[in-house]
Amino acid sequence: MRARTALLAAVAFAVSFPACNSEPARPQTEKPAAAQPESAAPEIPNTEPAEALGEPEKPRLSGDRAMEHVRNLVRFGERWPGSAGHSWAQEYIIRYLRLAYTEIEEVDFVTRTPRGMVAMKNLIGKIPGDSSDIVVLAGHYDTWRQEGFLGANDGGSSTALLLELARVLGLQQPNPATIWVVFFDGEEAFRQYSDTDGLYGSRYQISAWRRSGVLERIKAVIVVDMIGDKDLALRRDLNSTPWLTDLVWRVAREKGYEEHFLSATTAVQDDHVPFVEAGVPAVDLIDLDYGPDNRYWHTRRDRVDKLSPQSFTIVGEVVLEVTDRLSQRWPGE
Ligand SMILES: [Zn+2]
Repeated sequence: MRARTALLAAVAFAVSFPACNSEPARPQTEKPAAAQPESAAPEIPNTEPAEALGEPEKPRLSGDRAMEHVRNLVRFGERWPGSAGHSWAQEYIIRYLRLAYTEIEEVDFVTRTPRGMVAMKNLIGKIPGDSSDIVVLAGHYDTWRQEGFLGANDGGSSTALLLELARVLGLQQPNPATIWVVFFDGEEAFRQYSDTDGLYGSRYQISAWRRSGVLERIKAVIVVDMIGDKDLALRRDLNSTPWLTDLVWRVAREKGYEEHFLSATTAVQDDHVPFVEAGVPAVDLIDLDYGPDNRYWHTRRDRVDKLSPQSFTIVGEVVLEVTDRLSQRWPGE
């Protein structure tokens, strides 16, 4: 319980940032009583807003800030849907998005899995733009279900980079396009990846967006996944939209990052695939070569010591530049 009190104190402070004179909002619902990791309190910066969020004049993406998010997230422990750490991660994302001046939509749904019906929640941070066209930056925040699995890179790095992107994009408003930063739940399979096991959050979100007419406003989707590896090596994914992949690799080359954006190819099933299938341009930035023979992937070795702030900076800078170019003009149309 001690950790819980600390969390709420930190969180209440964060919520008070955008309107400093008003009373901090109280969380409206109680979290389920569950065993919490002793050191679960997130370290949301406890300083003045300008200091906490960086210099508003010229926001720069910070790999160190992203690493700090990863450290906070892994302190919550395992973060698969239904776990205590999963609820903590949701709370952490929501509070940080509020801090970063974004409007938040919580998308709750219950879905059938090999382990029965499971409640999940996608989180969307909305940054308004001059145009109603939407660029989606996405990744997953859930982790692979395995005892002791902390997912510093797999689940942690995507969440962390998206939070840092939200901070920068929130500060540099107004942006030309509307930008939605989307944290998908249930990317991981419950047993084994198949058409019906895994990618729960993205599949649900696409059907919801199709019903509401949002899907046709989405001009491009950039998915990040496992991008924190010290030894960063991204391959061109053949399931991604070719012109969008070309744009990402072109920007990476212009920035001098070609040693991390390889010309080698791969084919990955990830949250971008349902978008491509729905006719929305989407690209997956993923480094599925994690440790010797990929030995850190889905194992307890996926810990913070395998990551580097530089990798977050590299991928983050490329994503920001691609987002900017997408916002100016729509290549491929
Ligand atoms: Zn995974």
